[in-house]
Amino acid sequence: MLRKVLTYINPIAQLGNPNYSFIFPLSLNIVVATLLEIYVHSIVNDPTIVAVYAIVFFIAIIIYTSFRDGIQGGFISTTFTLGYYLYIVYTREYTPEQFESAIETIVFLGVIYFMLALIIGWLKQTVDRLIEREANEKNRLRTIVEQLPVGVIVTDSAGQVVMANKRLDSILGTRFPLGFQIGSKSLFDIKNNYKKVTPSKGPLAQILTGKTSLEDEYTITRKDGKNLYLHIKASAIFNREHKLMAAAAIINDITQRKEIELRKDDFVNMASHELKTPITSMKLYISSLEKQLKELKDEKAITTLQHIHDQTNRLQKLVYDLLDVSRLQTGKLTFSKEKFRLDELIQETIDVMKSSHSTFTISFKEKQPITVDADRFRIYQVLTNLLNNAIKYSSKSNEIHIMLHKSNHYAKVSVIDFGIGITKDQQEKIFERLYQVPDNKTNTFPGFGMGLYISKEIIKRHKGRIGVKSAPNQGSTFSFTLPI
Ligand code: ADP
Repeated sequence: MLRKVLTYINPIAQLGNPNYSFIFPLSLNIVVATLLEIYVHSIVNDPTIVAVYAIVFFIAIIIYTSFRDGIQGGFISTTFTLGYYLYIVYTREYTPEQFESAIETIVFLGVIYFMLALIIGWLKQTVDRLIEREANEKNRLRTIVEQLPVGVIVTDSAGQVVMANKRLDSILGTRFPLGFQIGSKSLFDIKNNYKKVTPSKGPLAQILTGKTSLEDEYTITRKDGKNLYLHIKASAIFNREHKLMAAAAIINDITQRKEIELRKDDFVNMASHELKTPITSMKLYISSLEKQLKELKDEKAITTLQHIHDQTNRLQKLVYDLLDVSRLQTGKLTFSKEKFRLDELIQETIDVMKSSHSTFTISFKEKQPITVDADRFRIYQVLTNLLNNAIKYSSKSNEIHIMLHKSNHYAKVSVIDFGIGITKDQQEKIFERLYQVPDNKTNTFPGFGMGLYISKEIIKRHKGRIGVKSAPNQGSTFSFTLPI
């Protein structure tokens, strides 16, 4: 109650409220004038001294009411004050000279009071309009965010959720609690790459602890048991002084698309499994046929069979890649780690490559003994992919370098070619699934865009990094790291 009264009479609390009162300034004036009359008549018994008090009190009331109720409040007080002054002049016993001078003073004060009421009231109304405009702008923004077709969460710099829109609620199937502290606990069972995400590693928690932006896919289990695939993009919002002001996340429900993709992956997985067996048998038959032809010394047929053998190998590699891609997509690619010498594996891979690409010189520079704990076969696969690409995309040069060195508890392998190179904008995309650099002369370089994707995933799951530095027509350097 007291708080209500205080808010009602506090002019600062009324800023931004354009409902100016008529009654309040009028009543205030009447009350003050009545109290003054009682005071001078009944307490001090000297009605002539009222003018001194009246000038002091009523100037304060004019300032106060114009600040509280705008020009209207100021004018009401001014009019009442002047009326009261006239009442005093007429009811007190003044000599004609005193009376004349009093009227002059009232006219003079009247002009000043009206100007005062006008200036203060106008200031107050301008502030109100500005506050209202800002509030409208905020509301407009809030309404837009509310109705965006994507889920939105905004937190303050301390990680407390200040905004969560309707679309988010419909995605999550429940009202997202405003004021929720990010990082304190999990509202849902969230997974990323088939691994549970702890509250402190959630997308917004990462932004609040220093990451500037992040984009990834997550799966969540809703309270009603429904599993969803979400694409979450989170980013830090800084003020002009580059200090973290807020963190925001945009959440897209990609369940439908993901389910179709999974069905496609299942199909590819099944098809490649079915293809694997006949290809293996074909290779066995080819070998036995090769033996027979060698006995018959039929050189022409042997050469033809060699071509069939090469093509079957390509087919087999393709089927294995397809199988790997679908395993990666469904989280079924497993690794069996062992300790081995990375330098020896590189040398072995080079030797195998040299036997099938004799026109290329592959030199292993900066060789040094480094042991890693990794899946040997999968790392061999990465090396073969990178070397095969280096050979495939070398136009004029037939030279390839491999380098191995240690840096900060990591082994770094670089495969350097001097071929066609890759433009900057393509460099980010080539590691995506099934991405190939668009080629005007279609089919110059056969392939499916799976090799780099598989390599990236293998390295990522070994907690390493893979990347490329390249310039068109000068060549490319593909490097990956593995923890030692
Ligand atoms: P693929 O070679 O089967 O098309 P990859 O995933 O291995 O698929 O490579 C993706 C794309 O990256 C290729 O289409 C090619 O355009 C580009 N690329 C890969 N390696 C190189 C390289 N060493 N030099 C130039 N371009 C490359």
